[in-house]
Amino acid sequence: MTKMSVRSAWLASSLGFLMSLAFSSHAVCSEEDAQEVPPIYETEEKVAAHLVLLNGKVVTVDESQPEAEAVAILHDQILAVGSDSLVSLYVGPETRVIDLEGKLVVPGFIDAHAHFLSLGYSRMRLRLNEAKGWDDVVALVAAAASESKPREWILGRGWHQEKWESIPADTVEGYPTHQTLSNVSPHNPVLMTHASGHASIANAVAMKLVGVTASTPDPEGGRILRLGDGSPAGVFIETADEEMDEFVREDRARRPPAEIEQERRRAVSLAAQECLSKGVTSFQDAGSTFEEIDLLKKLSDEDGLPVRLWVMVNEEVGALAQRLSEYKIIRMAKARLTVRAIKAHVDGALGSRSAWLLEPYEDLPTSTGLSTMSADSLKAVARLAMEHGFQLCTHAIGDRANREVLDAYENVFKEYPAEKDLRWRIEHAQHLHPSDVPRFRELGVIASMQPIHCTSDGPWVPQRIGDRRAEEGAYVWKKLMNSGAVVSCGTDAPVESVDPIANFYAAVTRRLPNGELFYPAQRMTREEALKAYTIDAAYAAFQEGEKGSITRGKLADVVVLSKDILTVPQEEILSTKVLYTIVGGEIVYQR
Ligand SMILES: [Zn+2]
Repeated sequence: MTKMSVRSAWLASSLGFLMSLAFSSHAVCSEEDAQEVPPIYETEEKVAAHLVLLNGKVVTVDESQPEAEAVAILHDQILAVGSDSLVSLYVGPETRVIDLEGKLVVPGFIDAHAHFLSLGYSRMRLRLNEAKGWDDVVALVAAAASESKPREWILGRGWHQEKWESIPADTVEGYPTHQTLSNVSPHNPVLMTHASGHASIANAVAMKLVGVTASTPDPEGGRILRLGDGSPAGVFIETADEEMDEFVREDRARRPPAEIEQERRRAVSLAAQECLSKGVTSFQDAGSTFEEIDLLKKLSDEDGLPVRLWVMVNEEVGALAQRLSEYKIIRMAKARLTVRAIKAHVDGALGSRSAWLLEPYEDLPTSTGLSTMSADSLKAVARLAMEHGFQLCTHAIGDRANREVLDAYENVFKEYPAEKDLRWRIEHAQHLHPSDVPRFRELGVIASMQPIHCTSDGPWVPQRIGDRRAEEGAYVWKKLMNSGAVVSCGTDAPVESVDPIANFYAAVTRRLPNGELFYPAQRMTREEALKAYTIDAAYAAFQEGEKGSITRGKLADVVVLSKDILTVPQEEILSTKVLYTIVGGEIVYQR
């Protein structure tokens, strides 16, 4: 059934009063936002929906009509939201009607900070998290080697020797050694990264390619574990592991461009499948290069972007200055691709003690962490963002890093007093000095946070910064919300799962894996978490006029869930499944 046939086949004069309902204009994000299809309620023609969802609990996240029973969809837009009897009026002879049997319908989830291509790549690597022992890892590598062309890298991640049921016969400092991997993969280089990301095991082919031998010294800040005869055991720790990663990246970058593009396309497709199966309909990508954006443009031209992407450009300041103007993309290919933000980084992470702090680390009193970008460079990038009409999204974890970014934003805002409503963001905003909390609202800076990081990392956060700082300033999304700041929710996938349900649960419980609560005063309410995942995430991208709520005239991106995450007992939230994911009016995932 084509959409046009629905349009022309169905005329219902009884709908006249509905079509004439006055609605606020279909808000667009800027004058560049070209509307490809005229908003349906502005057309004279009276139309039936192509899809109607009846008999549900529709939580719209739209204050003018918070709850409804049914939704009608035509083309890629929401045609009507209301009671079953009202929405039934939009059912025509060719309308597909779905009885929701009381299930919950919410706006499609918008992941406000994650890494799209990396999510796809993570799906192409061996996943070793479930391995019960070294034999499982070896078996997975053997299977991959039998399917790979010689010289192709076999990569994997997630093994953890302390989680295994048994320890292999040959070990060095508790780690397995390379021989078994070398035996099962004699023609393919292998690199299997530890769950922590701070160590890896390579096989003999890989070490030969890299040129690691008995005489290779340990790099500064890292170690190459050795066998009894002094030859490398295959285990690389910290900077030695980083050097292995770097080699793999460079080596793989030398493949023919067509092969690299093929792989990127596969990454896009795998990432999209993963998102849609979890109810993520829009994805705010936290940093792609110009080259990667070129591919995303190509794919969206070919109609190959199943998830809506909003992308931050991740390039050095020189490259930004040269090429940024060519890369402003708004609502390309039916609003599937927008590029209008820049990603910057001013510090590292708390786990590796590279988050930049105001006071020293509790467990390393000689250090306040690392600044990875000078104030001048940040200002230079900020001015570029200003001049090209881009948002600036700066990674800041430590309280010093957050303060520096707020200071830089404030100064640059003063240099451009005519520019208003900029919606610049701080990515993570993870540790804040209490006096900086109100500055987010005052400056209109969005806190783009990852609740799931709080519950994953919570067990060791007080070790790093002590109880007082953890209580006052760690993941204080509730304080930010109470101060009037906009908080958006993301997962940082593939660092964490892209699953919004697990992230929602973390936001509303702050429950650690051991059952304890991490400073529960900072929990969001379920309504706040849903807003942060939908309308507020849309706002953080200048897209609240077209998505983030189930509102007539907005893009028809909605999700149907197996349980009512707004009312079920807390412990039932995590077992909630996505039943349908609808993007642009099309059912793109069905359980
Ligand atoms: Zn990130």
